[in-house]
Amino acid sequence: FTRLELDDKSRDELVEMGQTFNEMIALLESNYLKQEKFVSDASHELRTPLTVIESYASLLKRRGLEHPELFEESVEAIHSEAIRMKELTEQLLLLARHKDHWNLSLAAVDLEELAEGSARAFRYAYGREVAVSVSPGGVAHGYSDEAKLKQLLFIFLDNARKYSDGEISLTLASAGPECVITIADRGIGIPKAELPKVFDRFYRVDEARGRKQGGAGLGLSLAAEIAEAIGAQLELDSVEGLGTTVKIRIAAAESGGAL
Ligand code: ADP
Repeated sequence: FTRLELDDKSRDELVEMGQTFNEMIALLESNYLKQEKFVSDASHELRTPLTVIESYASLLKRRGLEHPELFEESVEAIHSEAIRMKELTEQLLLLARHKDHWNLSLAAVDLEELAEGSARAFRYAYGREVAVSVSPGGVAHGYSDEAKLKQLLFIFLDNARKYSDGEISLTLASAGPECVITIADRGIGIPKAELPKVFDRFYRVDEARGRKQGGAGLGLSLAAEIAEAIGAQLELDSVEGLGTTVKIRIAAAESGGAL
């Protein structure tokens, strides 16, 4: 048995290797824990609408034939909870799928057409007015992925709808090498202390109210991921009781995509 003699350099290297190894383990563990939390939060969110569906279905099974008056309420609840589960599943799928597989296609996007189309779709789906305005000099085409930008707009319009009653405005402007899309509502707003947290997955400012509105607290975290993937910058300003303004900044097509 010979004792292994290490010179100072080798010893330092060994210590360094040990540290790197520990850091790697810590990183793996934290990712693992994050994944576990994601799965448990997601299951929790899916279980709530499922429980509603299950109880209404069992009520119909037990008493539906003798009590046809139960039909309308039950079918309504089952239908709306099923829609909620479908939306939630779509959001979860998008979050779970790595951005490399999103198949982005960056090109010049006609922002006026996109804004008008989104406002029309929104009016049609929810009966809510979205007032589109374009800054006086017109607006440049943006450089982005059209489908994902549309999805981003929809998330913010949908939040404006859920947390306000009045008009929602969508404004387009060009500012040098960038285009700015602003979505504003005059709704309940977000308390200042909550602002840093609203982009976290599954975070709702008000659990009970958020759930009633049908949100799982995933919209803004999805918006942040989409923005990062398409190179858009997000700015959220909100004053409790006054309303919320979101700015989406993207590169103008003429700037070659550089923001
Ligand atoms: P949710 O699906 O619950 O709306 P989001 O991730 O989109 O989740 O938003 C997180 C929380 O931020 C919401 O639960 C809500 O409390 C708050 N919020 C987001 N947008 C607005 C808005 N336009 N006005 C007021 N509160 C908002």
